[in-house]
Parts: sequence; structure tokens; C-alpha cells
Amino acid sequence: MIVMKFGGTSLGNAERIKEVSGLIEKTGDNFVVCSAMSGVTNTLVAIAGSWRDKDSEKAFALVDDLEKKFHATCYELFDDAESSALTSQCIFDHFSVIKNRLNGEYDLNEENWLLAQGEIITSRLMVDYMNWSNISITWLNALELVRTGADGEPSVGDIKQRLRDRIGDNPCGRFLTQGYICLDNHGNIANLRRGGSDYTATLAGAALGAERIEIWTDIDGVRNNDPRIVDNTFPIRELSFDEAAELAYFGAKILHPACVWPASSNNIPIHLRNTMEPNAPGTIIRSDIGKKGITAVAAKEGITMIQIRSDRMLNAYGFLSSIFGIFEKYRTPIDVITTSEVSVSVTIDNAGKLDKIITELGGLGDVTVHSGQAIVCVVGDILEQHKDRAVKILDSVRHFNVRMISFGGSKNNITIVVPEDEREEVLRSLNSFLFAGNQSKTVAHD
Ligand code: ADP
Ligand code: ASP
Ligand code: MG
Repeated sequence: MIVMKFGGTSLGNAERIKEVSGLIEKTGDNFVVCSAMSGVTNTLVAIAGSWRDKDSEKAFALVDDLEKKFHATCYELFDDAESSALTSQCIFDHFSVIKNRLNGEYDLNEENWLLAQGEIITSRLMVDYMNWSNISITWLNALELVRTGADGEPSVGDIKQRLRDRIGDNPCGRFLTQGYICLDNHGNIANLRRGGSDYTATLAGAALGAERIEIWTDIDGVRNNDPRIVDNTFPIRELSFDEAAELAYFGAKILHPACVWPASSNNIPIHLRNTMEPNAPGTIIRSDIGKKGITAVAAKEGITMIQIRSDRMLNAYGFLSSIFGIFEKYRTPIDVITTSEVSVSVTIDNAGKLDKIITELGGLGDVTVHSGQAIVCVVGDILEQHKDRAVKILDSVRHFNVRMISFGGSKNNITIVVPEDEREEVLRSLNSFLFAGNQSKTVAHD
């Protein structure tokens, strides 16, 4: 079984949906995970915002636009109104329910319900179109398959069991379900965070013991730097699971931050492919790659840096664990950490519990908070052949306000923290330093 995930950009309009259907048809037995058509989740987020702000005029105007977009795609897909009647009715019914609910009170559960509609309607549209084109494929409800536990995370074992109940032990044929959406442990509709369809795909791949997981998007694989910011980036043909996980976690938008572990822990390769150029090689992510050199750079913004300073740290033990205990209590992961004899600096990207964390940290020492920071991460074999490479990387960012440096946790990554407004320039500077002249290569050489 092959898992194929199609992102919103691959499903942008009727033409793209037709192409994607062809790609699905050509692959043998497969399990397809699809996102919402491009732009739909952003619009749903905007509708939810207007609903929360009680701006119903704006909310309804946005809903009308969205409904028109789906109807227009439907008419284009099925060529004539008669053959599209059933799907068109289904879109109409969905939007009637959305409008009805928008007349009610906003709350977070309602917002999550609304955000799930993009994937639900898109997946219906795809399956109806494929079945109409004589490509047999079974629609599966992701809300019956993916459920998070008390920790807010899904488990492969649980999905495996639910899939087995639904499609049996040795499924064959084609199946299609929605990415991103799930139920939480109370049975309410939730999601795997923005970009979560990648995560659904790798979870499904692990649960099915898939041969490989194909993630189809609008670009020829993972590039060595963020192509939205830096010119002259180039595709990386092979990445190790560890490198891919670091890049995804530290901001390479092409992959959801958590999507690598289900594949790596089950040793299932991930193949990133370009829907616009299906014959392009893309990027293979797997365990056994033997290349050396610096692979890529990524950055994540919206980071908060917290510094705790206390003379009590000198020669003390247990101090770090008291600090970590507070973050654990508020279920806030720490990304980067640096220490000196009298102070500890950490970064977090979820500042939801920041006030409570600061109050409790105040009992341990003086606390300073800097919001608006960015983490920039250089991934690859930093030390293997060139012992001075780490120093050179730092030299290339000497003109910036580097607030933290983390190196040594693994030889695969060096991480710095800079103010958010310097992020783009840092990415460009690292690019010219690490990759100048390397446009067609997969690794950088000194
Ligand atoms: P999809 O809708 O298919 O999920 P996304 O928009 O989530 O696609 O991810 C693909 C986009 O990620 C690309 O169009 C590109 O702009 C962006 N991106 C950011 N960093 C990278 C990178 N290192 N390599 C490739 N793409 C990247
Ligand atoms: N549609 C969702 C989003 O835009 C999930 C995804 O694209 O993976 O975030
Ligand atoms: Mg995505």
C-alpha cells in the first residue's frame, strides 16, 4: 500500500483535481490523504475570526465566496450541470449547515468544527469526481480514524486499530480520507494544527505499514533554504529522517513539524513530489543516506526567549530540573536551551501559558522575557569533515544580534536565536556563505 498526500496547492482548481485523480489512478493500491483546496482553510480561519468578533456581515460574505468557489470547481469538474447535480447538492447542504451554525454562538468547539469543513467538502468533491470518472475509490471519514489522546497527540496503534475495524487487515483498492482533522479525547472535532495533513499521511502510513509515503506539493522537494525568502535555492535529493525532522520542526513549511516521527520510527520512506512536475525526482527521506556536508537552513519565527538568572545556581544541583518542571507542568515544550553558571536561557514557541510560567519561574530567580525572536537552524553534517565549520557558520552571522547559540546536542545541527526582523537577512547571509555556487549540488562543501 502506498500513501499519497495531496496538499491544498495540488488541489487548487478543477484542472489540478483532474491531474491528481490521474496520479491516484496510476498508482496501484493506495491510501490518499487530501487537504482542503488551497486558500480554503485560511478563509475558514478568517470566517471564525469574524464569528468570534460578532462581525456576521463579514463572516457571511466570506462564506458566500467560499461556497461559490466550490460550486464553480464542481461545475468545471463534471462538465455539465446535470452530471454535477448530486455533488452540487451536497456542497449546498454543507454550506446551509455552516450558515445555520454561524447564526449560533461562537465557541472554540464550533470553530474547530468549522475549520474541518474544508477537508470534508474537498474530499467529497474528489471522490465524487473520481467515481464519476470510473476510478473506484472509497471515501473514509478521518474523524472515525484519527483521535488524539489526553496529551493532544494521536497514536499510530490507535489509528491502526480503527483502520482495521473499517477496512480490514489486508486492505486493497483505493481509499481517500481527509488530512488535518481528528477528534480529541472528549470526542470533539479538533485538528493536528496548520499543515496537519502531512502528519495524517505519515500516521496513516505507519498504521498501514505502507511501502512508502508520497507527499505531493507545489515544489520539487525540500530545498536547501526557504524559497519564499531566498533566491537560488536548490532541491535536496536525499535527506535523513533526522535532518528532515529538524528542518520540519525548525520552520521548513513544506513539512508539518511533527510528521517525520511516524515514518522514521517505522522506517517508511517519505517521498516529496511535485504535482506540477510529476516526473521530477523530488526528495527522498529515509534512514540510510551516506552523504556529508551542510544540507539546509530553516527558520521559525514567533519565538519567545526566557532568561532565568540566579546566584543560587552556582554549584547547585537540581536547579535545571526545577526550571524544566515548571515548563512540564504547563505542557510547554522548550526548543533551544543555553546555560551559564548563573543563568539559563530557553526558547518556546507556544506562549499560551507564558504568564503562569513567568510567575512560577520568578520563585527561582530574576526572569527576563524577549518575545518576537526567531530560531535559525543549520542542518547537516556540521563536524564530520571540517572541524572549523561551526566557527565559520557563526562568523557568517557576526553582523546580526545573535541572542543564543546551541551546538553540540547533536553533530547534525547548529541553532541560533536572533530577533525576528533579522530572520530573512540571516537566511540570505547563510545561503551565500554556505551554498554559493552549489545550485545543482545536494550538499555544501567548503
Ligand atoms: P501543501 O499545500 O502542499 O501542503 P505547503 O504550502 O504547506 O504545501 O508547503 C509547500 C511550500 O513550502 C512551498 O511552496 C514553499 O514555498 C514552502 N517552503 C518553505 N521552506 C521550504 C523548503 N526548505 N523547501 C521547499 N519548500 C519550502
Ligand atoms: N488545510 C489545512 C491547512 O491549511 C491542513 C493542511 O493543509 O495540511 O493548514
Ligand atoms: Mg502543507
